[in-house]
Amino acid sequence: MVLTIGTKAAILSIVIVIPLAGYGLWASEQNGEPSQQVSEKHKILVTFYPIYKFAKAVGGEKVDVSVIIPSGVEPHDWEPTVQDIERLQQSNMIIINGAGLESWIPKLVSANPDIIVVDSSKNITLLQKNEGTSMTDPHIWLDPVLAKIQVQNIADSMIKADPENANYYQQNANQYKSKLDLLDKQIRTDLASCNKKDFLAFHDAFSYFSKEYGLNQNTIVGGLNPESEPTAKALEDITQKAQNLGINVVFTEEAVNPQVSKVIADEIHGKVLVLSPLEVTNINDDYIEKMQNNLSNLKEALCS
Ligand SMILES: [Zn+2]
Repeated sequence: MVLTIGTKAAILSIVIVIPLAGYGLWASEQNGEPSQQVSEKHKILVTFYPIYKFAKAVGGEKVDVSVIIPSGVEPHDWEPTVQDIERLQQSNMIIINGAGLESWIPKLVSANPDIIVVDSSKNITLLQKNEGTSMTDPHIWLDPVLAKIQVQNIADSMIKADPENANYYQQNANQYKSKLDLLDKQIRTDLASCNKKDFLAFHDAFSYFSKEYGLNQNTIVGGLNPESEPTAKALEDITQKAQNLGINVVFTEEAVNPQVSKVIADEIHGKVLVLSPLEVTNINDDYIEKMQNNLSNLKEALCS
């Protein structure tokens, strides 16, 4: 059977209303046994790793969070498949990073106009990518201070969808925001004694972080996409720059060829360490720990 786009959209919107109706609590009583309360978890889709961790922290046992972009897949150029769009039938809410990361969202919304899209970048002042363009830098999750705003936006959306558990969501959000506060303090304390401000990241992921902590980000590849490879001339320029700035740690990240960073490190007699943009991270890994790993490597780059 061939469906027109209009028919598909109509079917999708019918299917999506059903979980909404079933959402809530119901009690079952069998053979006089004490009634066991079974709660139907609120099904929420999230786009990628950091949002998954924030949503799990806030939603706890009340929500069932599924991540759309799989671990190990770079989110910058990811596009949904037909199967991904079908998964939306199980969910009535999707939480996105926002700030221009998920450019495919309008496509999903047109397939399912009833889905609630929660933009976790709400109330965050975004950095422009290039002067004169409207392109924004999406890497807000790498700044713990901005991550706190994302966490609160996520909590607000869960409270709105499930007001009976408002206290639960807000308490979880407060706990997670306290952890982010501690991380923020740790970053400030650990980097305070470092005499360098310049570091060499792989791709342009640490602008918000650098702004927050008074650092200067230099990058090996231009632009936001880590999958672009620098030309020989660009490599030569960045090596020269690293030398001039007294840089002796060249960062790489998980999903790229470490050889690129190694070439520069060899030239400047430095070493290669990982500075993770938390873009291809396994969903079982802890956000705070990953950020602490970054901090420890950054400290080595800036304090040595
Ligand atoms: Zn990135």
